[in-house]
Amino acid sequence: MWIRWPADFRYRHFDPRHAALAPKNTEKESQIVDNCIFCKIAAGKIPAKTVYEDDDVIAFHDIHPAAPVHVLIVPREHIPTLADANEKHTALLGRMMVLAPKLAAELGGGYRHTPEGPMGGFKTLVNSGPDGGQEVYHLHLHVMGGPRPWRSER
Ligand code: 5GP
Ligand code: ZN
Repeated sequence: MWIRWPADFRYRHFDPRHAALAPKNTEKESQIVDNCIFCKIAAGKIPAKTVYEDDDVIAFHDIHPAAPVHVLIVPREHIPTLADANEKHTALLGRMMVLAPKLAAELGGGYRHTPEGPMGGFKTLVNSGPDGGQEVYHLHLHVMGGPRPWRSER
């Protein structure tokens, strides 16, 4: 039996340009480890006061700030502790450290060299394991700053 295809059948059904026009899933793809609060924040599944994000890291205000400025820089990848990081994470960890002073400055807790001497400042901290005081087992860098006194000396 002869089937008469519509004249534009090939274009409508096989033209590879259609693949390029197809709607893409624009939601950031993040690996979510069960019951990991920071994986869920990174994936946008639970809210946080985000101050920075890119493909590799997200930074948001700590829910219980210990200082006037207290943000957490969190890799999207679920690395449980700093002890689980390896050589392939070297650039990622470096980027987190370089981001810290920028975020501190943007949020009012930056360090400045001035003619009168050093001014302002912030602390960076990674807690690892029970004896290191870690509560959330998804690697994160605390950035705490702003005028003292702070709520707690971590
Ligand atoms: P750790 O002791 O593991 O180094 O610090 C974990 C930090 O995560 C704590 O300072 C705590 O206040 C913060 N935190 C825990 N749960 C949440 C949350 O759901 N949202 C935000 N923004 N911070 C959280
Ligand atoms: Zn996680």
